Order: sequence, then C-alpha cells, then structure tokens
Amino acid sequence: MSSIADTLTHVRQQILMAERQFNRPANSVQLLAVSKMQPKTAIINAIKAGQTCFGENYVQEAVEKIQALRVDYPQVEWHFIGALQTNKTRVIATHFHWVHTLDNLKQAKRLSEQRPQILPPLQVCIQVNISAEPQKAGVSVADVPALALAIQTLPNIKLRGLMAIPAPAADFTTQCQPFHLLNEMLQQLQAQGLSLDTLSMGMTDDMQAAIAQGATIVRIGTAIFGARSAKTE
Ligand SMILES: *Cc1c(COP(=O)(O)O)cnc(C)c1O
Repeated sequence: MSSIADTLTHVRQQILMAERQFNRPANSVQLLAVSKMQPKTAIINAIKAGQTCFGENYVQEAVEKIQALRVDYPQVEWHFIGALQTNKTRVIATHFHWVHTLDNLKQAKRLSEQRPQILPPLQVCIQVNISAEPQKAGVSVADVPALALAIQTLPNIKLRGLMAIPAPAADFTTQCQPFHLLNEMLQQLQAQGLSLDTLSMGMTDDMQAAIAQGATIVRIGTAIFGARSAKTE
C-alpha cells in the first residue's frame, strides 16, 4: 500500500500534467483533499506532506477534527462540501473557511448573520444541479443568476464562484459537457459584473475533464486516502 505522501505526490503530478495538456497555467488548479470518514492520523500525514486544504462533509465529524488539529496546524483551511442543513449553519459559519454547497438564500443569510465578526468573510460557492437530476442538491441553472446577485449583497460571506457534482459518466467527452456548462455560467455571471474566480468541480473519477473545462478547485478523496467505509450517521 502506498503512503499518503506518495498518493498526494501522484495526484499533484496528475494535476500538473492536466494543466499542461489543456493549456491551463501551471498551479491554476488547487487541490482540495477530501478527508471525510478518514481518521485524524491520515489528515496529519497529508499535512506533513504539504497539503493545507481539506474538505469535509459531516459537521460533527469535521468540527471534532478541526478542533483537535487547530493548535498544532493553524495553517489548515477547512472547506465544507456536504449537504447544508439549516440547523447547522451556525457551527459551519464558526469553524469553516469555505462552504461549497450553498443553494438557497435563506441559508446564505444565516451564514452571513452567524459568521463571527472577528473572522474574515466566509468564502462560498453556489452549488448548481448541473445535470438537472431530481432530488439532487443544488440550485437549477435558471435560478443561479438571481441567487448570485442576492448573495453578493450579504456582508459576511464572499461569493467566489460555482460548484457542481454532475451525474457520473464513464467517458471523457461526456464528463466534459456539464463542466463546460458550469464554466459558461461562471462567465455569464462575470459578464454581468460579478467578480468570481472559482469553479469547484472534479473528483477522483472526472478530475481530468474538470481541469480541461476550467476547474480552479478539484475535490479529491479516494485517489489520496483510498476507499472510504460507508457513512453510518
Ligand atoms: C466525497 C466527495 C468528494 C471526493 O470524492 P472522491 O471520488 O473520493 O474523490 C468530492 N466532492 C464532494 C462533494 C464529495 O462529497
């Protein structure tokens, strides 16, 4: 079994190669290590191998890790990428640096109101239901502009861009399509005057396609930490 330092090096090399292959500037894609369901020891190994940004999905598990690692590793940046529940917004606004999964104005307002004043604004992405799947989280494509304009006025959160989890697809060309659409949406918002710089898209199985279509953050779990055990929350 390879170490986390080895798998991290491998993933970083894959990102660099994809940047080169798809004419993206070097280091224009940030690696978010998705550490949900992974023990603190795995996160510490990744930190020691130079990783500073981690994505977590489950609030209670995440806060435990954040509090345990805060003193020794103050440089770590925590990104919430799980399903956002209204009764958890205060905890999230208190402990995280980023939220990728915002899809309604009510929760945006709560995050802004609940963000502690001593902290910089919470960085957020709007999650878009890019493949228009019923039951899936994320705002519909048609509703993105209005939500973005409303969020932009809130004082303690800073809208950075868009995030999506497309329906799984096996081949590269099919994987590219929803990512291309998300990129076009970001450009439309920029053309309307919003200063956005983030496309959070791409996971272990579709990272290359996401980078080809302009991802600025890829969210990678399995390729770094190996398979996860099933969640039993
Ligand atoms: C779990 C998860 C990931 C990581 O997925 P892998 O396939 O393990 O790379 C990325 N994004 C979100 C939102 C996730 O929930």
